[in-house]
Amino acid sequence: MSFLLRYKHENLNMLIDLRNKKNMQRRIFIKDTITGLPLLMLMPQLLASSCNNNGGSEPNGKTVIVIGAGISGLSAAKKLKQKGFNVIVLESQDKVGGRLRTNRSLGVAFDEGASWIHGVNGNPITNLAQQAGMNTFETLDESRKSFDVGGKMRSSSVYDNAEDELYAILNKMMKSGKSDQSFQTVFNKLYPEKVNDRLWKFLLSTYVTFDLGDLDKLSSLLYNEGEVFGGAEKIATNGYDTIANYLANDLDVQLNQKVSKVDYSGPRVKVTHNGTISEADYVIVTVPLGVLKTNVIQFLPVLPATKTTAIQKVGMNCVNKFLLTWNTAFWDDVQYISYTPEIRDKFNYFVNVKKFHPTVNALMTFAYADYGRQTETMTDTQIVDEIMLHLRDIYGNNIPNPNNMLRTKWQSNENSYGAYSYTAVGTEMRHFDDLAKEVNDKVFFAGEHTEADYFSTVHGAHLSGIREADKIIDLG
Ligand SMILES: Cc1cc2nc3c(=O)[nH]c(=O)nc-3n(C[C@H](O)[C@H](O)[C@H](O)COP(=O)(O)OP(=O)(O)OC[C@H]3O[C@@H](n4cnc5c(N)ncnc54)[C@H](O)[C@@H]3O)c2cc1C
Repeated sequence: MSFLLRYKHENLNMLIDLRNKKNMQRRIFIKDTITGLPLLMLMPQLLASSCNNNGGSEPNGKTVIVIGAGISGLSAAKKLKQKGFNVIVLESQDKVGGRLRTNRSLGVAFDEGASWIHGVNGNPITNLAQQAGMNTFETLDESRKSFDVGGKMRSSSVYDNAEDELYAILNKMMKSGKSDQSFQTVFNKLYPEKVNDRLWKFLLSTYVTFDLGDLDKLSSLLYNEGEVFGGAEKIATNGYDTIANYLANDLDVQLNQKVSKVDYSGPRVKVTHNGTISEADYVIVTVPLGVLKTNVIQFLPVLPATKTTAIQKVGMNCVNKFLLTWNTAFWDDVQYISYTPEIRDKFNYFVNVKKFHPTVNALMTFAYADYGRQTETMTDTQIVDEIMLHLRDIYGNNIPNPNNMLRTKWQSNENSYGAYSYTAVGTEMRHFDDLAKEVNDKVFFAGEHTEADYFSTVHGAHLSGIREADKIIDLG
């Protein structure tokens, strides 16, 4: 999740130059203003939420159950606890963090979910990371080499020109689509000569599909929605779960508690988890959109039609990540190694982990959309074979197989059923607000998929938790 965001950052800078032009989009204008002002002036509630406020309020006698211990649930729980609420967090897994999930089994922190803080300026995660002790490293998109099939290195100018053209197309194409047309339909019609070009397959895959979703399902009108923070892209080096563990530190989190029912028909909300019923004045549901789509949680009464429609209409994509380790590094000393295979979305770029862990000889690679889902049916050996085909094409047949490989299966993961939300054909931006809407002032909803401005990100999830905590605090 970094290339398209860079394009948005560049657009943002351009807009800053054009700040007096009358037709400036309001949402970008707000972003522009935020970038220029100290965060604390604009979002004092974020400061309150992020501070380690040991002097919390007196107990107020109200109980809140938060379903899910991802960053949205933990951020909400922490703020509510500071305000005197009795807060219980119910989490289905055996650890906190949700999509902030770090695997350290190979001696290096492999983030299976989020890796980057996207745009550190004004981003609430920047402060939170510092407080939590999460170390970061600035990844430079310019530090890259691109290879074609046959191992031929592409000149920077060919790559850069295509990238510029992609940015121009992304700006232009929004005006060409219709609400029932996918990104792929419109792009293929306007640029048929690019459809089978390997560099263009790569660009569409890593700049669009990675951030958003399957091109044949992505909305041709809304692919550029959402706001961005400016500044550097920073990757977590000691694990993104550091933030989750920090937030959970003084909370009552009950692990291995799978919620199956939320009954809000009476004066108090009854939550069924592992056959037990717990009661609360308020409930915040933070399970991922993919989980809501599968109806594994029964709501009584059933949720309003606006909510169920939004659950269906907003898309949930698939991104899988793979970490491979060797005894020695055989690859180029750059941050990103790109490869442009015939099959789109297949292991087409490699993050050089050695850049931020000099003693670790590891590469991280990705598979997205349908190919990403397909990897979940493949054995470890098949995965390694396919990745090595690409690396051997670049670096020769003599390079060894990796010592180890770690992988994710986000689509079939029953705690998320996908990676993050996106604007599919049929999605309207109001659907994100419908996902966020509370029901009967008793059942509240947070999570990355409920933030129209910052969906699909860690900061969006965090902000959504603070937003719902504030609603409950206002109710008392
Ligand atoms: C592969 C991948 C890469 C990403 N890269 C980035 C990135 O680089 N930068 C970025 O900003 N964002 C990134 N994201 C997105 C980011 O990780 C998410 O937006 C964010 O972590 C979501 O937080 P959340 O609290 O909304 O949901 P979650 O973290 O998913 O939390 C929801 C919790 O609910 C729990 N749960 C589910 N069902 C139940 C149930 N029935 N009962 C009880 N608990 C339940 C889950 O176990 C989970 O802990 C990435 C995500 C993925 C998957």
